[in-house]
Amino acid sequence: MQIRLFNTLTHKIEDFKPITPNHMGFYSCGPTVYWDQHLGNMRTFLNNDILKRMFLANGYDVTHVMNFTDVGHLTSDEDTGDDKMEKGAARENMSVWEIAEKYINNCLNDMDALNLIRPTYTPRATDHIKEQIELIQKLEKLGFTYEIPGDGIYYDTSKWATYGELGGQNLSELRGGARIENNAKRNITDFALWKYSPTDTKRQMEWDSPWGVGFPGWHLECSAMSMKYLGEHFDVHTGGQEHIKVHHTNEIAQSEPVVGKPWVHYWVHWAWLMLKDGKMSKSAGSFWTVRTLIEKGYDPMAYRYLVLLGHYRQPVEFSFDGLDAASVGYKNIVRKVADIMADTQGAVDKALYDEWHDKILAPVSDNLKTAESLVVFQELLKDKSINNATKFELIKFVDELLGLLLVQHGQKLLDLEKEEAPAEIQELAQKRVEAKKNRDFALADELRNKIDSCGWTIVDIPQGYKLTKKQ
Ligand code: AMP
Ligand code: ZN
Repeated sequence: MQIRLFNTLTHKIEDFKPITPNHMGFYSCGPTVYWDQHLGNMRTFLNNDILKRMFLANGYDVTHVMNFTDVGHLTSDEDTGDDKMEKGAARENMSVWEIAEKYINNCLNDMDALNLIRPTYTPRATDHIKEQIELIQKLEKLGFTYEIPGDGIYYDTSKWATYGELGGQNLSELRGGARIENNAKRNITDFALWKYSPTDTKRQMEWDSPWGVGFPGWHLECSAMSMKYLGEHFDVHTGGQEHIKVHHTNEIAQSEPVVGKPWVHYWVHWAWLMLKDGKMSKSAGSFWTVRTLIEKGYDPMAYRYLVLLGHYRQPVEFSFDGLDAASVGYKNIVRKVADIMADTQGAVDKALYDEWHDKILAPVSDNLKTAESLVVFQELLKDKSINNATKFELIKFVDELLGLLLVQHGQKLLDLEKEEAPAEIQELAQKRVEAKKNRDFALADELRNKIDSCGWTIVDIPQGYKLTKKQ
């Protein structure tokens, strides 16, 4: 099936053409591991996963690289302020290395809970200092660098004629009227490739380099590590939308002089997860993680489903009401899946399977329209003319494509329903029948709550009631 993606570089939806047939080389900017990743970060990682699953479903072999930034990201996102890693270490009274370890593990656990396929490679910036130094040396040879004494080595953006192209800006627009806060920089847009360690304090992370002891600038690692694992040119690069104008623009500027244009063929940017009054962010103070959701009793799949109901180029506003609604929607689908799984006798209708497989895959292949694909899937579940054996095969395909763990959850539901309620729960249920007969609805409600707090759900059915163990 022809894949189409919105390419930030050309500002158009384009037909995807791979560099190597049936292969997709994919780099996604990963987290700075100084703190937990919130649900906004996870929306971005989840979108990476959907993109990857869509390529896999179309028969591509995917090499996915996601970095862990464990050095060099300063609080201003520019080249000033504190190092986020050192700040995180001070906050938790740990070393920077311990902080990195802790938050890499937390991040991977949260990604697993959301059923994200692990990237092929997850390189850490601190393991690739040599590659980063070599890249600076190449840029130095080509005349793109200059030194700010006592500060570091900087990239001179005026030397790269197409600087700003990704964000649809040219150099003079970018420079026009802007005030240079750091007077030593030649242009407001110039950025650090190598920062010197301060002379008055000792940094926990620092390395020797041809220019002096210090650490790499934040943008550099993505160029150096993507080239190492994906080759000098690759297919798709993604990240949150805020990366377009600075981080990715700088990645391009420091890569293309070395490897030639175009370095990356398709740039895809994810819109944010919002709160009522702005972007969900760590600096805003209050944020939720996947672990918070689990602690509050939510299934992480409800969050996954919520994200899939939106489109990646549109912001999604997060609220617990919204999550509750998504949770109900997800459970309804699992209920239908379980009913299908309870009786899958019969033969799979190959022609119908192929027809629905393509109907489900087509919207996702067309610039990741996941919500449209879910509508088609709901139609499939409802369609009485298709047998359960065929539906079950398609459910398995939807699990591969959208990663919603429907078969796993459907099976769990069936298992729970098979489990007989213990005597004391049955007794409460009987008492509730009596209470209802006596029209004592207050008591009936009380008994329902009691059953609920013991981990069982009671629903009234024509034959009486049904007890199900809660998931
Ligand atoms: P950070 O750890 O801040 O470098 O962020 C890791 C990734 O999450 C980056 O690609 C960001 O663009 C992305 N990100 C941060 N906040 C949000 C948000 N509210 N919604 C979606 N993506 C986000
Ligand atoms: Zn990056």
